[in-house]
Amino acid sequence: MAKSRQPQRQLLKSFTIKGPDGVIRPGDSVLLKAPDSSKPPYVARVEEIEATGPQGTNVEFRVRWYYRPEESMGGRRSFHGSKEVFLSDHYDIQSPDSIEGKCYVHKFKAYTRLRSVRAEDYFSRFEYKSATGSFTPDRIAVFCKCEMPYNPDDLMIQCEVCFDWFHPSCVRMTIKEAKKLQHFFCESCVSEDGIKLQKSNGATGESEKAVISKRCRR
Ligand SMILES: [Zn+2]
Ligand SMILES: [Zn+2]
Repeated sequence: MAKSRQPQRQLLKSFTIKGPDGVIRPGDSVLLKAPDSSKPPYVARVEEIEATGPQGTNVEFRVRWYYRPEESMGGRRSFHGSKEVFLSDHYDIQSPDSIEGKCYVHKFKAYTRLRSVRAEDYFSRFEYKSATGSFTPDRIAVFCKCEMPYNPDDLMIQCEVCFDWFHPSCVRMTIKEAKKLQHFFCESCVSEDGIKLQKSNGATGESEKAVISKRCRR
């Protein structure tokens, strides 16, 4: 049989690596060994799995990198979550040997609803252009007096009147105090007494007072 000179290209529907959840398909996310073993593994999304070579014996993964905040031009900022990654425009070819295992990059909302966050759970709410350091979307909702995007690692408390969310530290409260809180009214809603009273019919006066005095005490 004459050997074909055309390179053999064959896209695979899946590839199995060792481990309990070892079947990897295009669209799945994976952890890849960092060259420096003291660094956390790289996160990437598998775009294509390709068998190359005459017998299709060589397997290559075409991946799209997720960047960790510290790998981006702007670096890590206070609102970035510890499990946050950005979907970059940086593609690469990787061999199956460098894959440590599967991981799960959730959409932001889905991540905030996880009952428990496992080591392999991440979230992504931004796309990142590696050449320019720009993010899409370039604006997202901000909360609290500090006007920061939500970091899912941080506890926040919601004002019952304006529904804005606040960091306990920004409203001079400890995390412990915030966790015990039954009702919370932010500074601007408390000063507008009329609004607060109107909205708090269903709540007991006592717990409101407790919240307010706690806030005044500093
Ligand atoms: Zn704040
Ligand atoms: Zn408020």
